[in-house]
Amino acid sequence: MALDLDISRVRSVKGSSERYHLEVSAFDLEDENWSLAKPLVIDAEISHEKQFLQMNGKLATAVKGVCSRCLKPVETPVECSFAEQLLYAKDISLFSHLAVGEVEEKYFIYDNDTLDITDIVRESILAELPLKILCVEDCRGLCPKCGKNLNQGQCDCDLHEVDPRLAILATLMED
Ligand SMILES: [Zn+2]
Ligand SMILES: [Zn+2]
Repeated sequence: MALDLDISRVRSVKGSSERYHLEVSAFDLEDENWSLAKPLVIDAEISHEKQFLQMNGKLATAVKGVCSRCLKPVETPVECSFAEQLLYAKDISLFSHLAVGEVEEKYFIYDNDTLDITDIVRESILAELPLKILCVEDCRGLCPKCGKNLNQGQCDCDLHEVDPRLAILATLMED
């Protein structure tokens, strides 16, 4: 489902502004670790400045994944804000004094009456999330020998006897 905002009105009237409210139950984070666990709620306001549109928004949802050490399901709330300056493609010429690439770096370029904020929202959410999922900061993970969840207690394995190949694998998985 695309997150489309109709900006036809705010775009045509200088000095105007418009508020948007979106709620979607499915949203692809395109991330191998995290997926959406609760509906995504977005509130945004776009105001027409002199040469561009200023968008300010906030979003709330929850995401889920599994602990990278013990595989326990993890769910975490996400609340964050985002801001973007939107420049109409035709108006890029107003910025010809800037170096090549500078406009694209500073502005989000749009070229019609519908603004798809999917990428902006996705990047905002992923920026809030750790690269590595842990159920708790000091999760002890699974025993590399018997697979027991060591958060629930020690097993009887003598880890000094672990097959060195498995030990290497465990170290690699840790990273
Ligand atoms: Zn864990
Ligand atoms: Zn064990």
